[in-house]
Amino acid sequence: MRETKHLLFPGTFPAISRSRLTTLQVNLGYKCNQSCTHCHVNAGPNRTEMMDDATLDLVIKYISENDIALLDVTGGAPELHPRFRQLVIEAGKAGVTVRDRCNLTILFEPQQEDLAEFLADNQVEIVASLPCYTEDTVNKQRGKGVFSLSIDALQQLNSLGYAEDSNLNLHLVFNPSGPVLPPSQMELEKEYKQRLAQDHNVQFNDLFVITNMPIQRFGSSLLSTGHFHSYMDTLRNSHQADNLETVMCKDTVSIDWQGNVFDCDFNQMLEEPLYSKDKHPLHISDLFATSLGDLPIKTGNHCFGCTAGQGSSCSGALN
Ligand code: SF4
Ligand code: SF4
Repeated sequence: MRETKHLLFPGTFPAISRSRLTTLQVNLGYKCNQSCTHCHVNAGPNRTEMMDDATLDLVIKYISENDIALLDVTGGAPELHPRFRQLVIEAGKAGVTVRDRCNLTILFEPQQEDLAEFLADNQVEIVASLPCYTEDTVNKQRGKGVFSLSIDALQQLNSLGYAEDSNLNLHLVFNPSGPVLPPSQMELEKEYKQRLAQDHNVQFNDLFVITNMPIQRFGSSLLSTGHFHSYMDTLRNSHQADNLETVMCKDTVSIDWQGNVFDCDFNQMLEEPLYSKDKHPLHISDLFATSLGDLPIKTGNHCFGCTAGQGSSCSGALN
């Protein structure tokens, strides 16, 4: 894979200041029942990296002792972590909403037969990638048979009240397959809702439309196909200063499976940690005694991916 990091730092992106931390995004490990070609962490069934007990205990302690509104859990398939369910229950006790980045097919894995009910019982918000409403495109990106299993999973979630009950939110994620900005989130959501209802009787709440970041596999493919600089021009030329007020690093930090702290998931992939005032990379164990407001956000040219056009974050468009 070809690296883009040296082309992103130092960048020309404006400085951003933090607001209050409200969201903790936590990666529980890289084990996954799927092995999608575009996976940014190379997750798969044979990966063994998993958050250890001590680090997971610190996550529970941190969300219990601090005013965190949202715990955004990712992986791999986070549900495969042996303590996933305990984490969800403890977050519930602390009044923290849990968002599960669910790949849908996990619902049909051995020992996960009751997962959908568990998620519904605990009012876990589900965010699921579905790169298209047609079978061919989804199977090409995510593997043979994934589309039909995803539809089965969505129907099962609907039957439990997801997308109907106001406490059971089910969101889908779209990102473009090539070096272009995504289409209007509002328009595409209408199209998805119409097609999925008509073809499969599937309902969902919101479509999160996400801009591709010029990093990892996508960045590498931009370099290999000679599109890196033109894509960066597209992002830079579409920069909307208003989006600087709502980029996700203002109120979120991202924790990797080892407990290291990053400004966002993208900086995590770029291995650019969040540094303390005395310049050591922060670990979740440091967060209890650290005032994040004083620490600068590490920006680079990839940040234009967050502010281009309608803006982009792990919750979709910003405006
Ligand atoms: S389902 Fe998600 S985590 Fe698993 S391989 Fe695919 S992209 Fe990676
Ligand atoms: S890439 Fe990360 S650090 Fe940069 S603007 Fe987006 S969320 Fe913030």
